[in-house]
Amino acid sequence: MFANAEIGIDLGTANILVYSKNKGIILNEPSVVAIDTVTKQVLAVGAEAKSMIGKTPGKIVAIRPMKDGVIADYDVTTSMLRMIMKKASKKTGMALRKPNVVVCTPSGSTSVERRAIHDAIKNCGAKHVHLIEEPVAAAIGADLPVDEPVANVIVDIGGGTSEVAIISYGGVVSCQSIRLGGDRLDDDIVQYVRKKYNLLIGERTAEQIKIEIGYAPIDHPEMTMEVRGRNLVTGLPMTVTLHSVEIQEAIKEHLLQILETIRTTLETSPPELSGDIVDRGVILTGGGALINGMQEWLSQEIVVPVHLAPSPLESVAIGTGRSLKFIHKLQKAAT
Ligand code: ADP
Ligand code: MG
Repeated sequence: MFANAEIGIDLGTANILVYSKNKGIILNEPSVVAIDTVTKQVLAVGAEAKSMIGKTPGKIVAIRPMKDGVIADYDVTTSMLRMIMKKASKKTGMALRKPNVVVCTPSGSTSVERRAIHDAIKNCGAKHVHLIEEPVAAAIGADLPVDEPVANVIVDIGGGTSEVAIISYGGVVSCQSIRLGGDRLDDDIVQYVRKKYNLLIGERTAEQIKIEIGYAPIDHPEMTMEVRGRNLVTGLPMTVTLHSVEIQEAIKEHLLQILETIRTTLETSPPELSGDIVDRGVILTGGGALINGMQEWLSQEIVVPVHLAPSPLESVAIGTGRSLKFIHKLQKAAT
């Protein structure tokens, strides 16, 4: 007799990952869906959908259904999950027959949304579906001792949202979430370049700029990057050289908002746990953790040690997969 497959799904605002207990990460795709606006049918999910942007007939649009951490359209999300499950079972080389699934829900999601995700996965043929809170999954994925009575602080900076949570004894002691993440920094860069140079650049170019020369601290090794776009006055293509200090200036305000969220969460921590936090520090995860100089900048600002999770883009997926073994405890926490 075969055991049921066990998989974990990280339903992120920027990326969806599927982790299988035996094979590790088996799927990692952008959370983009291509939809036929007439029939409302989902045509493609992930990288395939992303590559269709701007290249398809007018009635097909590519959207990010979880952009701000909430599920905008139930039907679209259901179809998307169905396609994800199908892709994942292809990748494992065998049909995922009645898998046990742990899925991590965005922490801002309502109980109705969580129920919708649960039912959608169940409808895809899952045997059992368990929901887990994102920070708990991230902490497990980052190898933190979540079920011990010590404070584990997780800062997860994603695409659409950022979360700060203090976890102890397998549960969330306190948590704050803001609808602000790496995507907003991309927007900041688009706006800055438009204002300063009359140059229109795309979101993906802005993301590249952020990744290459976007620094959190003011003090950093100065870098430059040549960027192409369309001049808004002449309408013609144009190249400018951007400096890393300009980018730091452009994204500064939103980085400070993330910092403020971390500060207020730490301030609300029960006094018994504060000592742990000073000793053990904060674990930084999510794609935003990879912003240049982020770790050093944060540790200077909050004056506690800041550690980078082993694989910031994968912690949540790994954690959801691993959590299958202590799901009974987690079930209590997630409801
Ligand atoms: P989510 O969990 O919301 O899906 P992720 O944790 O996958 O989000 O993070 C996605 C965000 O991280 C995006 O805004 C992306 O631009 C950003 N990101 C990814 N890699 C890097 C990097 N090397 N430097 C800076 N930002 C990055
Ligand atoms: Mg995430």
